[in-house]
Amino acid sequence: MSLKDYEGEIYTCLRCGFCQAGCPTFRHTLNESLNARGRVILAKLYLTGQYTPDEDYMQRVLSCTLCDICKVKCPPKVEVAEIVEALRSELWRSHRDLYPQDIVESINSILERQNPFGVPREQKMRSYEGESSVLFFVGCSSSVYYPHMAENTLQVLRALGLNPTVLGQEEPCCGYRLVEMGAVDEFKRVASEVVSFLENRGVELVITNCPTCYKTLKEYYKRYTSLTFEVMHITEWLVKEAKFEGELSEPMTVTYHDPCHLGRSMGVYEEPRQLLESIRNLKFVELPKSREESICCGGPIRALYPELASKMSDEVVQGAIEVGASQIVSSCTTCYRSIASSAAFHAEVDALDLPTLLARALRRG
Ligand code: SF4
Ligand code: SF4
Repeated sequence: MSLKDYEGEIYTCLRCGFCQAGCPTFRHTLNESLNARGRVILAKLYLTGQYTPDEDYMQRVLSCTLCDICKVKCPPKVEVAEIVEALRSELWRSHRDLYPQDIVESINSILERQNPFGVPREQKMRSYEGESSVLFFVGCSSSVYYPHMAENTLQVLRALGLNPTVLGQEEPCCGYRLVEMGAVDEFKRVASEVVSFLENRGVELVITNCPTCYKTLKEYYKRYTSLTFEVMHITEWLVKEAKFEGELSEPMTVTYHDPCHLGRSMGVYEEPRQLLESIRNLKFVELPKSREESICCGGPIRALYPELASKMSDEVVQGAIEVGASQIVSSCTTCYRSIASSAAFHAEVDALDLPTLLARALRRG
């Protein structure tokens, strides 16, 4: 949809400011133009031709993490994240020269190398032959930087009777960064190429670890393509299709951080908790802000605004310390990376990825 299609949504904003209570980029800057309300006004100014974008304007638009907590706090439920996405798609078309180089490179990298990190495709993890109709879609972040998370996921799935295929270097990028940053035409092309590629391979079920790939394949692709295969997050598959049970050799107190793309976006709150509660010797405690109130880890803006992003992940870590958790479990590589970078400053708490914990619990380690 174009920004013009969101005109009604833009005028639905009451300017009440309740979104200040949720928006993390406002909370850590106290800058109204980095708040949801401010961003709605920026969109209106663009739409009415009252403002010509410059670098400051871009910073305000690009620093939104699309975390969607503003909608939770907003009385008329204004779709601020969707407005920001539509605004970015206008800006990508009309003011591409104002985009930071980092974003342009990331977009080109997806189109040329099938990953947003600018690394050669050969740096993705190895492939595994398995059932051709079931694909474990690893995602670029885990494939390039955290292959152990994918290996642990595979170990868990195999132990529970599923032997999916892993495409390794052949795995395409889901293209989220394109739609996130406004490169919508490029995203549509990628989405239809990925869907054709998977369909031609006979894929009927895609299981992924990555909340961003999950949301992209399941929700964004549906806007532009018709999917013939089912998409499940690993936690959904483990709860619905397998009877996961595990045990830790030592007692451990853990908390769980809801990734924005898995929780607020896709409503997957229960399954990760059910998995954690099925592990003996594990004590589960909730973060002070969880489920739809979960704090964004800052991951989406870490490359561009590292200080602001760190303040966001520090908040998550402080919450975990408050509730006495020794491990913050995450089912998202981006959240894991953000939380780990903040947890590194605190001896009492650490970041732990869900697949590694599950594999360990299966081994009773
Ligand atoms: S809470 Fe909603 S309606 Fe109120 S200012 Fe924020 S975006 Fe606008
Ligand atoms: S999506 Fe998140 S960062 Fe963006 S305006 Fe809403 S609360 Fe703020």
